[in-house]
Amino acid sequence: MDIVLLGSTGSIGTQTLDVCRAHKIKVRALSANRNTKLLETQAREFRPEYVCVCDEKCCSDMKARLADTDIKVLCGMDGLCELARLKCGRVVNAVVGMVGLLPTVAAARAGNDIALANKETLVAGGDLVTDCVRENGVRLFPIDSEHSAIFQCLMGAMGNKLSKIILTASGGPFFGKRREELKNVTVEQALKHPNWSMGAKITVDSATLMNKGLELIEAVRLFDVSPEQVEIVVHRQSIIHSAVEFEDGAVIAQLGTADMRIPIQLALTYPERLPCPAKKLSLFDVGALTFDRADETTFRCLSAAKRAVSVGGTAPCVVNSTNEAAVALFLERKIGFLDIGDIVSESLDKIQVVQNPTIDDIMSAKVMAEKFVAAHAGV
Ligand code: MG
Repeated sequence: MDIVLLGSTGSIGTQTLDVCRAHKIKVRALSANRNTKLLETQAREFRPEYVCVCDEKCCSDMKARLADTDIKVLCGMDGLCELARLKCGRVVNAVVGMVGLLPTVAAARAGNDIALANKETLVAGGDLVTDCVRENGVRLFPIDSEHSAIFQCLMGAMGNKLSKIILTASGGPFFGKRREELKNVTVEQALKHPNWSMGAKITVDSATLMNKGLELIEAVRLFDVSPEQVEIVVHRQSIIHSAVEFEDGAVIAQLGTADMRIPIQLALTYPERLPCPAKKLSLFDVGALTFDRADETTFRCLSAAKRAVSVGGTAPCVVNSTNEAAVALFLERKIGFLDIGDIVSESLDKIQVVQNPTIDDIMSAKVMAEKFVAAHAGV
C-alpha cells in the first residue's frame, strides 16, 4: 500500500503518519499549509517524492530546507491537485475547509480511492463529489469517526437497507448551557473539547455544534439517506461513535475509545483490521452511557445546517463557507462566539441559492459567503 497525504501537519495528518509508521505504509507525497518546519521533519522521515505548500513564499522556504534531497516541492492548489492525481493506493484528504474540494475531485478523476477526513468537501461539493466518485469507479473511505462507525456498522449489512442513522455527538464544551451563558465565551474556552484532541477549526465547530450539522450533511451524502433519517443524539462519553437501525428495528453500533487512529487506520487498510496503538475500550472504566437531545435553539449552527441540506443546491456550501469565515474571525477575536451561529443562520436567508450547481457555482457561493461575513462583521 502507498498513499498521498494532503494536510500532513494537522491533527489527522500526524496521526495518519503514526499509522504509516506502524504498518510500513509508503508515503508518496505530503502537503502542508504553512508549517514548513514540521513538513521538513516529516519529509526527512518518510522520504516522499513530492511535498506541497500553500504559496510561493512557503515554497521557496521549503526548497531551501530540502535542498540536499531530491524531493520535489510544489505549491498552491495546482500542486495539491497534482499530488491527488499521483497513482497510489489511497489519497488521504486531511486538509481543513473547502480547500479540499478540488483535490478530492482530481483524485477521483485519476482513479484513486480516497480516505476522506475533509468533511467540507462533501458538504460544499454535494452530488458533484459523490457523482464524480461513482462515475470514476473509485471508493470513498470515511475517516470522520462517526461516518467510519456507520461504514463499519454497514460492513455486515449483507445488502439490507438501513432505516435510520443514529449520529452521536459529544455535545462539546458548552452542553447544557443557554444562550445568555454563552455571550462571553472566550477562544480558550471554545478550544477546550471534553473528549477529542483536534485542530482549532473543528474544535470550535464542535463547540457551536456546526460540526454535527456538517456531519449530518456528510452522512446524507455518503450513505444516500434523507436528512430525516439521521437522528442526532448527544452522547457525552464519545464511546458509541454512531449506529444504524435496520428495518426490523435492530440497531448496530460501533464502540471504541476516542482515538482517531482507529478510523484512520481502517480507511487505509480496509478490509483488513490490523493491530492499532490506540487504547482498548474497557466498559467497566466507562461505567454508564448517557443520551440526550441536542439544543438547536441555543446552537443555531445546527439548525442552519439542517435547513441548508433540505434547501439543497449551493445552500450547504453557503452555510459551510459562512461558518469557515466566521470561525476564522472568532479565532482572531474579531467576533463573539454567538455571532458565529447568528451569521451562519442569516447567510441562508440572504444569499441566493443555485440548484444543481456546477463547480463554478459552488466557488462563487463561497465567495459570496465570505463577502457576507466580512460585511456583517465590519472587517
Ligand atoms: Mg466527527
